[in-house]
Amino acid sequence: MHYFSTRDRNIQISSAGAIAMGLSREGGLFVPSVLPTLGRGALAEMRGMNYCQRAVYVMKRFLDDYSAGELADFTARAYGPAAFDSPDVAPLRALGDGVSMLELWHGPTCAFKDMALQLLPYLLTSAMKKYGGGKKVCILAATSGDTGKAALEGFSNVEGTKIIVFYPERGVSDIQKLQMTTQRGSNVGVFAVRGNFDDAQSAVKAIFSDAALRDELNGRGWILSSANSINWGRLLPQIVYYFSAWCDLAERGAIRDGEAVDFCVPTGNFGDILAGWYAKRMGLPIGRLICASNANNVLTDFIRTGVYNKNREFHTTISPSMDILISSNLERLLFDLTGDDRETAGYMRELAKTGRYEVSKRLSERIGREFWAGCADDDETRGAIGEVFRTEGVLIDPHTAVGYAVLKKYRAQTGESRPAVLVSTASPFKFCGSVLEALGVDTDAQGTALIGELERAASIAAPRPLRELERRAVRFTGSYDRSELTGIVRDFI
Ligand SMILES: *Cc1c(COP(=O)(O)O)cnc(C)c1O
Repeated sequence: MHYFSTRDRNIQISSAGAIAMGLSREGGLFVPSVLPTLGRGALAEMRGMNYCQRAVYVMKRFLDDYSAGELADFTARAYGPAAFDSPDVAPLRALGDGVSMLELWHGPTCAFKDMALQLLPYLLTSAMKKYGGGKKVCILAATSGDTGKAALEGFSNVEGTKIIVFYPERGVSDIQKLQMTTQRGSNVGVFAVRGNFDDAQSAVKAIFSDAALRDELNGRGWILSSANSINWGRLLPQIVYYFSAWCDLAERGAIRDGEAVDFCVPTGNFGDILAGWYAKRMGLPIGRLICASNANNVLTDFIRTGVYNKNREFHTTISPSMDILISSNLERLLFDLTGDDRETAGYMRELAKTGRYEVSKRLSERIGREFWAGCADDDETRGAIGEVFRTEGVLIDPHTAVGYAVLKKYRAQTGESRPAVLVSTASPFKFCGSVLEALGVDTDAQGTALIGELERAASIAAPRPLRELERRAVRFTGSYDRSELTGIVRDFI
């Protein structure tokens, strides 16, 4: 099976090529030329499998450059007990009213990005051997929090790779900062950049488009690559957990054979929910996909009206990983629904030029039938955290809480009562300050002391990687000016 670009179908590439390249050179995203089907028979087979087996079963249909043996080896290492604290990898927890929570934060960084970023290093280094002429790869990332740490943890000590993460000196939480500055591994570099996230991000973009640097590194046998969510290698592992959640529900007898389930997904870059869309297109019985946003509700408006407009105020919220105004992966949905590379490229040109585009009426109606969208502000988010804790004794993080609040609105407004899965994207212990506030706990504690505070308030133990943070040595200190970043990359490689 080959892949082509959402902006030009004539640009074709193998599966390993798509993963090695990340982004197509004209700016489009790689998508599979056909979506494989996994019908009733396949679902029945998958029900008896464990998570890794399900992952191989799904992914091998997309990756014909990789053998099933390779994929089995990669998934065993990525999702094994050294990395994930749950043997189910992505366990389902039943809440009331036919709602189950899919916990995607049992990996080493306690957020859902681990589901893809634990596996990507294996897919990528193997792609470099198959497609990249054996070159080594240096991952460069600017991060506002979760992605950087998950990429560091995934690539740490992976042979044939180095990873450099730049984070804004102000703009990540204390715990997120500690998670990064205490990162282990001989091939990792973590640097604080003076300024905000946009400063760090634009400096990294400038490095990627620095042709002289690229040539120099190439001569030394290295290419620069990014670990962000537009890489097909990050999207594909996410399709798996939709299948896995459905199979678990069926195994438990919570749904009948073939019964449809709604999924509610807290959304930022549209990567997580897009994986759900692909799962549905492949034959998984999914009813509605519910797109949950925080106050940065550009997707809510788009799904309701067909107008995507990023020209609006940016809100800093208590669910920071969803503070996004450009949802890059939406491009893949537009292409999938239209099948039209020129139409997709047109929308993206409009977006780049004016910050806005409006899709055709037909397309907008189709999107409205498949997706439902809603948003929740910080007060509603805190309210949801308190409510779930009081009624279910379950602690949820602010991102998951946005999803919970929106799922409630969906059910109230549509009267729908189909079984639903709420996708839970982070451990509440990554966002102790906001969660404690939502529980009504006053505290002067700061930094890692907040973890113990929340453990006591909720009588729930924090995940081990977070509990161990305060004992970890800080390896990376100092802060740097934007102008120093190119030099840092050159020296580091
Ligand atoms: C990245 C992230 C999201 C948003 O996922 P997208 O794929 O960008 O839509 C939601 N919650 C958490 C905790 C995240 O880290």
